[in-house]
Amino acid sequence: MGTMGNCQECRGEVGHLPTVVEFEGQEIFLFNPVVCEPCLLDLCGKYATVCENCGGVIPPYTQVGVLKADDGKKQFVHMNTTCSTVGSAFHGYWGKGELHHFVEIEAC
Ligand SMILES: [Zn+2]
Ligand SMILES: [Zn+2]
Repeated sequence: MGTMGNCQECRGEVGHLPTVVEFEGQEIFLFNPVVCEPCLLDLCGKYATVCENCGGVIPPYTQVGVLKADDGKKQFVHMNTTCSTVGSAFHGYWGKGELHHFVEIEAC
């Protein structure tokens, strides 16, 4: 089927999606954007953050729950049933070291 596209970081060809890498003992799958394995590992090393709930790695290009810490700083949790139940009132998309599409969830 040819290539799936070109890596948005290095412009190299990416033959299959999702790109899968293992980072900090966690398997990371990335469909979008198209990034090759070496670049994804590099991005994880630079931009991964830590889940406040489980202490696990949150790689770039994933949905995150967002908590407001007492000092006004933002803390992140995984958007899964285990970690996002800790009262996160916001969620967003964790990109390259910054939050995108930051939206407030209706409080119930
Ligand atoms: Zn690349
Ligand atoms: Zn977590």
